[in-house]
Amino acid sequence: MSPEVRLRALRSKLAEIHHLAAAAALMAWDQETYMPTAGIAGRAAVLKTLSGLCHDLLVAPEVGDLLAGLAAAGDQLDAADQALVREVRRDRDRAVRVPGDLVRALAEARALAQPAWQRARRERCYAIFAPHLRTLLALRTEEAGALSDSSRPYDALLDEFEPGASQASLDPLFERLVDELTPLLRAVGASPVHLDTAPIRRCLPPEAQREFGLVVAAAMGFDLEAGRLDPAAHPFCTGIHSGDVRLTWRHQEDDLRPALFGIIHEAGHGLYEQGLPRDHAGTPLGEACSLGVHESQSRLWENLVARSLPFWTAFLPRLTRAYPGPFDGSAAGEIFRAVNEVRPSLIRVEADELTYNLHVALRYGLEKELLSGGLGIDDLPAAWNDRMEELLGLRPPHDGDGVLQDIHWSMGAFGYFPTYTLGNLYAAQLYDAALAEIGPAEEWLAKGELTVLTTWLRDRIHRHGRRYPPAELIRLATGNAPSPEPFLRYARAKFGALYAL
Ligand code: ZN
Repeated sequence: MSPEVRLRALRSKLAEIHHLAAAAALMAWDQETYMPTAGIAGRAAVLKTLSGLCHDLLVAPEVGDLLAGLAAAGDQLDAADQALVREVRRDRDRAVRVPGDLVRALAEARALAQPAWQRARRERCYAIFAPHLRTLLALRTEEAGALSDSSRPYDALLDEFEPGASQASLDPLFERLVDELTPLLRAVGASPVHLDTAPIRRCLPPEAQREFGLVVAAAMGFDLEAGRLDPAAHPFCTGIHSGDVRLTWRHQEDDLRPALFGIIHEAGHGLYEQGLPRDHAGTPLGEACSLGVHESQSRLWENLVARSLPFWTAFLPRLTRAYPGPFDGSAAGEIFRAVNEVRPSLIRVEADELTYNLHVALRYGLEKELLSGGLGIDDLPAAWNDRMEELLGLRPPHDGDGVLQDIHWSMGAFGYFPTYTLGNLYAAQLYDAALAEIGPAEEWLAKGELTVLTTWLRDRIHRHGRRYPPAELIRLATGNAPSPEPFLRYARAKFGALYAL
């Protein structure tokens, strides 16, 4: 069989898997948006079947034979096809180590845990969620054991979300961030400057909040013919295909921040999904590089762009023109300061840029202990509260604002949280590199010309899909290996100026 014939056969197998995965993704999106509550058990059964089928197709010996034949072809393949073979092997090598029964059990446990977590959070009652969390931790620990030869099963889970990430690389990174951010946070707290959030806390009807969010998303280049925006309890982005990218949002009537920054964040994810290479759709090369890189796209737009003065110079006039009243007479500088208030708080998704990574450090530390067996499910809420007090000086009044606040553990997604911090760090590094090439933000962002940045991101990140591993992609895009320095420089300069440090 020639390499061309093998490649064709492999692509057609991958397309089948991709179609089933797309159906599962659409059903998961539906579960979070429109599915009636009584559909939970039925949906769990469907997702279990679909996940199992995807797994079966990938581990089939036929796919293994095709990959072995292609690996033997070596340099006869061009660079893109070699990358394709490398990435499919990565996925398949992981899949063959995990028994199909375990894959099915996990899919079902996840689908059942999510509604239990929602109820537990609403009722501020950890006991409702604890049995589900115990099941998920046991299943994921079993999976990590199957995946890993090392004594650190957590590494196997980290590697799923961020290829190449490990405790050995993340420990010093989080240590550095905590060491640098804690004194900065203390200095902000001691500063006589207080940023007033009143200018952004104005009443705007939900429909107007949605429309304004979409104005910004469209200016970023998010294509609404290839995407949509629906209400949901938790903002997220699901890419079914680059022509079908779904964002969700939520709002608070008297504060524009949750809706606006939420929509911009998800639109950043959405732009990435819409910019993935269509000619590789249905293969790993048509997928996002990693969750860390994905998060860099959302956080770059949400924070470095939309929490800047040039952004508000461009968009405040549009806001007051379209929705006269609440923001009349506001100055861009007032809004800029209002959206950058630093204040230790209990909830990660509402955290400012300085405390956000400390929220992630807390979760990273707890996950390591959960996976190593050093921390049990029953002791988790107290450990959460203690750590919160150590890092941010606050103690949650109840578990709803503590250990129950995030959806991730209800999806069994241990190892996911660190990618948020990696995303923040990549975002600052990418924005530095972008500005060096496209010019200072005053020259394009202040004029509302956001697609100048979109074009740069398309070229450096989006179009490559999974062609390069994350660290390599960042190095190619910025000229440097991933580093926390650009983020720390940005944080010191921005908040040093805002708080007159
Ligand atoms: Zn995100």
